[in-house]
Parts: sequence; structure tokens; C-alpha cells
Amino acid sequence: MARDIKNILKQMTLEEKAGLCSGLDFWHTKGIERLGIPPLLVTDGPHGLRKQMPKKTDDPDHLGVFGSVPATCFPSAVGLASSWDRELIGKVGVALGEECQAEDVSVLLGPGANIKRSPLCGRNFEYFSEDPFLSSEIAAAHISGVQSQGVGTSLKHFAANNQEYRRMSGNSVVDERTLREIYLASFEGAVKKAQPWTVMSAYNQVNGTFASENPALLTDILKDEWGHEGVVVSDWGAVNERVSGLEAGLELEMPSSHGVGDRKIVEAVQSGRLSEETLDRAVERLLRIIFMTVDNKKADAAYDADAHHRLAREVARECMVLLRNEDNLLPLPKSGRIAVIGALAEESRYQGGGSSHVNPTKLEKIREELAIVAGAGASITYAQGYDLASDTVDDQLVREALDAARSSDVAILFIGLPDRYESEAFDRKHLRIPDNQARLIEAIAEVQGNIAVVLSNGAPIEMPWLSKTKAVLEAYLGGQALGGAIADILFGEVSPSGKLAETFPVRVEDNPSYLNFPGEGDTVEYREGLFVGYRYYDAKKVEPLFPFGYGLSYTSFAYSDLLVDQKEITDEDTVHVSVKVRNTGARPGKEIVQLYVRDIVSTVIRPEKELKGFSKVDLQPGEEKEVIFELDKRSFAFYDVKLKDWRVETGKFAILIARSSVDIVLSDMITVQSTTVLVPTYTRNSTIGDLMANPNAWSAAKEILKNSPLPAPAEGEDGAMNDLLAAFANNLPLRSLVGMSKGAFTEEALEGWLVKLNGSQTEN
Ligand code: BGC
Repeated sequence: MARDIKNILKQMTLEEKAGLCSGLDFWHTKGIERLGIPPLLVTDGPHGLRKQMPKKTDDPDHLGVFGSVPATCFPSAVGLASSWDRELIGKVGVALGEECQAEDVSVLLGPGANIKRSPLCGRNFEYFSEDPFLSSEIAAAHISGVQSQGVGTSLKHFAANNQEYRRMSGNSVVDERTLREIYLASFEGAVKKAQPWTVMSAYNQVNGTFASENPALLTDILKDEWGHEGVVVSDWGAVNERVSGLEAGLELEMPSSHGVGDRKIVEAVQSGRLSEETLDRAVERLLRIIFMTVDNKKADAAYDADAHHRLAREVARECMVLLRNEDNLLPLPKSGRIAVIGALAEESRYQGGGSSHVNPTKLEKIREELAIVAGAGASITYAQGYDLASDTVDDQLVREALDAARSSDVAILFIGLPDRYESEAFDRKHLRIPDNQARLIEAIAEVQGNIAVVLSNGAPIEMPWLSKTKAVLEAYLGGQALGGAIADILFGEVSPSGKLAETFPVRVEDNPSYLNFPGEGDTVEYREGLFVGYRYYDAKKVEPLFPFGYGLSYTSFAYSDLLVDQKEITDEDTVHVSVKVRNTGARPGKEIVQLYVRDIVSTVIRPEKELKGFSKVDLQPGEEKEVIFELDKRSFAFYDVKLKDWRVETGKFAILIARSSVDIVLSDMITVQSTTVLVPTYTRNSTIGDLMANPNAWSAAKEILKNSPLPAPAEGEDGAMNDLLAAFANNLPLRSLVGMSKGAFTEEALEGWLVKLNGSQTEN
């Protein structure tokens, strides 16, 4: 329904306008009845709905402590990303949107697109990846799915919110290029592709300014450059100075500030400190979103909880990653004696703690599902093995577990992080599992050679015990249907098909952010720069425990026929890359094909390679499919901080087709010609080498040098001497020529020369 938003705005009083810019309570915006403006209900997200029970609305919390209505609990973001499946994530989004409609929720507060800078960040389970391309693609699929149901999303937490330590006051200090290429890129793709109705500004400061009052982030980049049309909402309690926030582009303060923020806005307009046009612009954006929710509201909406549960199981199966499978221990036969060991098999950990905590519509018990899927042919015994609430070894529990393991053909150990180890609100201190669990693995290995470990955790762990196991399935936080999904994979109902969206380091010290996490006081400097995740492990040749993009299957895949459809392009062209993948094993399976791009020669520091394409292919035994990727300027570009734009350097790039970030299967080369025209800015401190690097500038310089009164460089006795002289000349600042000429080449002459050089040359 078309609405005259400008006309509604005209009828609003100053107080009403200011009032619309903050919440009514914890979860609602304000309505204005006389103008037909309804309140909106927003709730967390992102892997399920957390609509708090009506009786609690006067006393709500945002950390998930109180109850909420039942909703389907899908795997947490870390799992969703490990599926690398846009279509599947889209389906999750649709289901979430349906549940929002049924519960009268207008905006789901998610997804989170923050980059996993350190595996210690307590909220990593809520984020997708260490890689911005993968993260933004998955976020876009999630957003599009939810919004296709006429429900808004809130892409969060914008930006550089990568730790929980001092989360509401910390200052993330990030250089511009890193911010653009890593931390913002994760949001950029999602905003441009999927237009989230809202974006949530983060608690922290970014380079000294709170994200919620940061005009560069909220207006220059998000709105003006990326074209975000929706509303920026503050994270809950993130507003520092309300008026500065509004001026910077923060339309909505949440939750209610109980009139404080509204009064500040009114006073600022009345005193002339804030222009009413700024307020009007914010209100216009808010009205647009409010009426979008009204117009998209589905009357009598309901959802099929059983169908959503089935979807949660399908999704969970796609999210789990098989990390190890010696002697093909998995899949297990549905026969023989199986010991199921570990309290996590009974009291499963299927989601993370904090504001994203969902009250599931049902919960599959791992033990029960194992028995159902294995069927009558298998005899399953259970032993608790350890106390989930403590780190101390319980000898009696270990003895029982050893008995069970000894008398079985295989032991499945359920291992993982208890809630107290990872959550919103605090970071982890180390990457170890509780001591009693680690010791249990070692003890069981003494009596049973066939150990399969199933992990429940939201982020990487160290595995000093890995060699004691034959199989490791990373089940992450698998949502309410994790039990069935684990059973389906262990017994081979499906092949595992997830791959890691993050690197597992051998030791936490190997992580690039280790020396600067979580920082000093309020300041955390992102000194590793661009080298986050695999970008670092690649460049430093540090072998990870499990690399980014890695995951095993029960079947095998062969790659062939890599074809790059054009070998020479400009950065304005798009190029298509195709490759064939065949299932060469005996079981159906899915392969995640990854495309990385490497800049062969670059004048700026660049990672060895970066992910620029991926596709998940479903293949029956013997079946072959062609996968096609499209690459464009951004696939080859870096962010040029001088130009304040993305730029490709002319030259060769390798196109790498890979199974994981360390397993490149096929490669080809392409030449990209830059179309960027650079105006050189040589100064008196530019070097001779700088001129030589630019053929145009160098020939012009040589002309000038020919006619200048400078002494000719002395000839050396042999080539080595010439090389040495050349090396010196290379690094010689132009100002030195004045002194070397003994005054014949004057400062004025140098100035004139620079003007000529800068005026006439271009390079790219
Ligand atoms: C979290 C957000 C969440 C909000 C509302 C905040 O503490 O950082 O992710 O959406 O609370 O619960």
C-alpha cells in the first residue's frame, strides 16, 4: 500500500518525532495511534526466535536468562556457515521468517557478520567465519530468506566487534585497509546483496569513535557508499551520546531510554544544535520500515513446527564437519557393540549462551537418536564418563566408561565445551577442553583402539589427544535436531558435507591476533592487519591443526576441466570460471568447491590468496556436474587507501580451485588490465626507484636528467659495482640530487621538475 510518508511526517510534533527514535520498552518501538503508526516488535535471533513470554515483558532481559516462546532452534551461525550452502541457509531464513510472522515479530535481530579474529572471542558461535566473502554470502542468504517472508532482519554488530572483553567500551583500532578488506567487507556484501531492513550498530568504538555515533561508518560508508536504505538500530544500550548518534546516522535507540534520549533530541533541535532536517531524515527511514512491516504482515500466520524440526535436522547434517577418519572408522555398521560415552550425549549442548538463546520446540536426545538410527542390530551401552559441571576427573565415572569401552567394538566419545566455557559476555581464556574430558580420552585410548569423538563446541579447540582417536566429527552447536543429525552421519545415512569456515590452530599462540587480544584497557589494536585466519597461516607457513575450508566425506571427488573463459580482461569485465566435479566413490555426497585468487606480483602487501567463490554440489556416485563461478573487479582488487577506492593492479592472477585453503587441485592464470587512472604524486622524498617503477614517469625523468647539470653516475669496475650503484640510486630521494649536483640542480629546479612529472604522468 502506497503511503505518503512525507505527509505523515508533516503531521508529527517534534516530541513525536524524537520519540519514534527510541524504543517503548525492551522489545517494542513506540506507536503513534492518531497517525496510524503501530509499534514494532523486535526479537533476537539469529538461529531461532527468542520472543520473551508476555508475562515477562515488564521485566525482560537481553541475555537470554528468562523464558521465551517455543521456537525452532537451528544450528548456531558457526554451523550454518560450515554448510557453505546459500540455498540451505535461505531455507532456514524462510523458516525463521514464518515463525516471526506467526509470533507477530517484525524484525529478527540477526544475523551476525563479525569476523572471527580470534578463536577466543566468546561470541564466535554466533558469527559465520574468519573470511569476509564466505561470511557476507551466508549472511546475505540468511537475510534474503527471512525478508522474503515480509519480516526484517538486523545485520549485526556493525562493526569491528570481535571480542567480548570490555565489549561496551572497548576501542577497536584497525587500519583503514584492513577495516575495508576484512571487517567491513563481511557486512558490505550482505548489505548490497540483501538490503537488511535494519543494521545494528555495535557497542564498541572503532578507531576512537563509538560505532553508534560514527558518521564514517553509519552514513558515509553504510548509507552513502553501500546504499543501505533501512534503519540503523543501536545494540541494546550502545548509545553513548544520543544526539551525536542521530547526526551520525543512528535512527533508532534500543531499548527504551525512558525518555532521556528523546529529551536530548528535542532540546538539541530547540537550541539549534541539531537541524530538524536531520531528525526528519531519520524519522522518514523509520516510517518506511514500520510501514513495510505493516504492509507485509500476514494475517493468521502459522508455521508447521514439525516441518521446521525436520528442516533443522537436514540443516544440522549439512553443518557438521568430519575432521578425521582413520581406517574409515566411520560410518559405523549398524551392528555390534557400541559404547556411547560422555555426559554431552545425555545433556547435549546444542546452542550458545546469551541473547541468542532459544527455547526449542523439541529436542532430540543424542542417545535416543543413536539407538533409533542404529536399529536393533546394534547393542549400545552408555557411560557418563565425566561431570559436565566440573573439570575434575571423577574416578568412578572413568572406571564405568572404561568398562563400557573395553567390552565394545567401538567407543563414541561425546566431548565439548560446557556453557561456562563460551558465551556472549565473556571471552575464552584458552582453547582447551575441560581437563576431565581430555583425560577421559587418554584413558579410553588405553583400552579401546576404535575411538570416534563427536564435538559440541562453538569455536575451535586444541586437540593434543587427536592421535589417540580414529575419527573426529565436529558437530558444533547443532540446534534442536543435533541428535538425529549426529546419528545420521555416524551410521552413514548421509555423508558428512560441511567444511570449516574457520582455522583450527594447533595452539592458541599460533593465532595471528594472539599478541594483541584482547588488548590493553579499552584499546585493542588489530596489529595483524589483513592477516586474519588462513591469510596468516598461508603467509607464515604455520601449519594449522585443521585449515580453513577443510572437511572430509565418506565418498571421494575428482576435479577436472578447469576453464577460464577469458584470459585477458580489464577490471571492468566479468570472467567465468568453470570446473567439473565427479563423485568417484560409492556413496552419494556433497562437495564444497572453493575458488581462491592470488595476485602474482603486487606493489602492496597482499595475502597469498583469498576466497572469491564457492559452491556446494550434490553428487550421486559416478555423477559429474559443472560448477560455474563469476569473478569481477572485486575478486582481484585491494582497497587503495590513497584512492579511497578498490583498485586492481595490472598483472597476472592465479585462479585456484581447491578442496580447502591448503589443498589446491587445479589452477590457471589470467591477466587483468586496470582501468584506474592514477595521478602520480611525486614529492622531493620520492626515490629514483619510484620513478623507475613507472615507465612513463621514468622516461620523462630521464629526459629531464639528460639536460640537467647533474653528474653522470660513476661507472664501476664490474657489473656488481654497477648493481650496487643502481641499488643506491634506487633508494635515493630526489632531494639528494640537489646536493649531489653541488648546487647546479637547484631546489627551484627540483620543484619545477616535480610539477612537470606530476602534471603529465599516469600509471596504473
Ligand atoms: C546483543 C545483541 C542482541 C541484543 C538484544 C545485545 O546484548 O549484543 O546481539 O540482539 O542484546 O538482546
